Amino acid sequence: MSKNARPLKPLRALASLFYPPLCASCSVPVDHSAYLCRECSEKAPRIRPPFCATCSEPFDGSITETFSCANCAHRVLHFTAAVAAYRSRGIVRQIIHEFKYGKQLHLRHPVADWLAETLDDPRLQGRRFDLVVPVPLHPARKRERGFNQAELLADALSARANMPMRNALERLRYTTTQTAFDRTERMENLHNAFRLRKNANVRGLRVLLIDDVLTTGSTLSECARVLKAAGAISVHAATAARA
Ligand SMILES: [Zn+2]
Ligand SMILES: [Zn+2]
Repeated sequence: MSKNARPLKPLRALASLFYPPLCASCSVPVDHSAYLCRECSEKAPRIRPPFCATCSEPFDGSITETFSCANCAHRVLHFTAAVAAYRSRGIVRQIIHEFKYGKQLHLRHPVADWLAETLDDPRLQGRRFDLVVPVPLHPARKRERGFNQAELLADALSARANMPMRNALERLRYTTTQTAFDRTERMENLHNAFRLRKNANVRGLRVLLIDDVLTTGSTLSECARVLKAAGAISVHAATAARA
């Protein structure tokens, strides 16, 4: 380290021994507080209004009032709102994919940054959450992958926002990859896929449910249903990105 290097927070300084401060996407040097360079950050496709108040799906046009999309209007969703600040496209999709399937654990940092931006959304801002809960992976899938990406993200958000995190849910079925199913099949595939963990208590709590990406919202809705059936007062969801 050069003599005139700025003082670092101890953990970040330690981490920088293993992960030199380079942009996680294009490897140009970055400031110690950043994980992506400015150019790469700006490539991340941010969701801008108008978007569905329930599932954050953006629309073209100039609607200014709050609305729910046709997709949300025609089904029962058990969360109050699922908030994402970015679309899962381009650099966002690529980094989440490498984090999740390429075992590039250090990429949880830029992904957690995108997730944390949801806390500035008016649907979440100023709300008090008693508990942050990650969408669980089936234990066999977790062993296979080595980690639950939603849990790592929930943990990061919990630390930043000073809200307790607990693995309150468990996944019972090792379901096949969801992408091969249409929406009705996904719903059936998910039914009774989750339950409250033994000794987890969510009664009377306001829960913030976390996943990496929202695809159809079915998984988040099914988790929210289980949490509310167990007595949670409300369930909001936040993801790093949405399809
Ligand atoms: Zn870059
Ligand atoms: Zn919607």
